Amino acid sequence: MVVKPQRLQNIPPYLFHEINKKKRELEEQGVHVIDLGIGCPDLPTPKHIVERLKSEMDDPNNFKYPGYSGCGEFREAVAHFYKKRFDVSLDAESEVLALIGSKEGIGHFISAVIDPGDIVLIPNPGYPVYQAATYLANGVPYSMPLLKENGFLPDFSSLPRDVVQKAKLMFLNYPGNPTAAVADGHFFREAVTFAKQNGIIIAHDAAYQMVTFDGYKAPSILQVEGAREVAVEFGSLSKTYNMTGWRLGYATGNKAALSLLSIVKSNMDTSQFLPIQKAGATALLSDQRCVEEYNLIYQERQDAMIAALRDIGIDTDAPKGSFFIWAPVPDGYTSGEFASKVLEEAGVIVTPGTAFGEYGEGYFRISLSVPTNKLLEAANRMKTKLAICR
Ligand SMILES: *Cc1c(COP(=O)(O)O)cnc(C)c1O
Repeated sequence: MVVKPQRLQNIPPYLFHEINKKKRELEEQGVHVIDLGIGCPDLPTPKHIVERLKSEMDDPNNFKYPGYSGCGEFREAVAHFYKKRFDVSLDAESEVLALIGSKEGIGHFISAVIDPGDIVLIPNPGYPVYQAATYLANGVPYSMPLLKENGFLPDFSSLPRDVVQKAKLMFLNYPGNPTAAVADGHFFREAVTFAKQNGIIIAHDAAYQMVTFDGYKAPSILQVEGAREVAVEFGSLSKTYNMTGWRLGYATGNKAALSLLSIVKSNMDTSQFLPIQKAGATALLSDQRCVEEYNLIYQERQDAMIAALRDIGIDTDAPKGSFFIWAPVPDGYTSGEFASKVLEEAGVIVTPGTAFGEYGEGYFRISLSVPTNKLLEAANRMKTKLAICR
């Protein structure tokens, strides 16, 4: 009766769903599991943002359908934020779209801009949604390997000619999940040039644009001259302001691509609840001290964990952005074997690199969304319970 259609057959079960199952099993056996797998901030949403939501809840005018593209105040706030942060001027009407979380926008964007059979260039390892949503849109994902020797940036010159010809869309993601790598203006210029030469749309997933350390400021791809002729940038309030459950994001950049996205969206959803959008405007317009404070917390956790990992023989550089550590697995193990061993013997969840694609082999990902003492306990358990770590 109900059979899985072809489109869905390519999509693996959402990884974190599987890990959660295993976690529950161990917890039922009485193991206190430390979960370094989740990519969801543990810190609270700043008070001034919550207060704005509360006050908007008293206005019944907010309980109606919002406009399809998002409310004007939120889109203006995104434009204002881009001007202030990146010196990029956006037309709030045509170059900004509100999203119900950036995952929603990214997912819908693919079917908005490709035809069935078109190739979508996807970073590997990468956020699993790019590939799954490509299958849902009857597109053909093609992996761009992100290799350490290239700073986890794709090498456009190594892509086969016929693949590039059939490619309609390319995803980029910096600061990156899972690699925690960053891209500079030079790389974005190169990407824009490549995209223009080959008629490819760039979708830059900038979910961690504001989560950066040591004074590093991540650029916007829209700072590149002429970028908005080919690029759309996806932003999220989830990670910056600890608002994952609120579901609010935005897409900026190329007008034509955004208007295609809004055709799909207006037929699938009716934008986000107005009080949430208004609270999001407050987040973007207020001074960004809260973001700096959160980043300092991540940085402290990162420093502690990098040192603790070094102590057990796992050596990796301190990332400049995102709240992940992307570390090499000890010799003699695959990513999957290592992650299973760490879970079963130390009760610690780390994400195997291969969960993000085959080029993630040899790595595992640690999320810094748990307090320092838990990170250190996890490292300590790995040290004492696992013979593989010295
Ligand atoms: C968390 C995350 C998102 C999704 O963010 P939402 O705005 O909450 O949907 C998108 N891309 C990457 C790489 C992420 O890690």
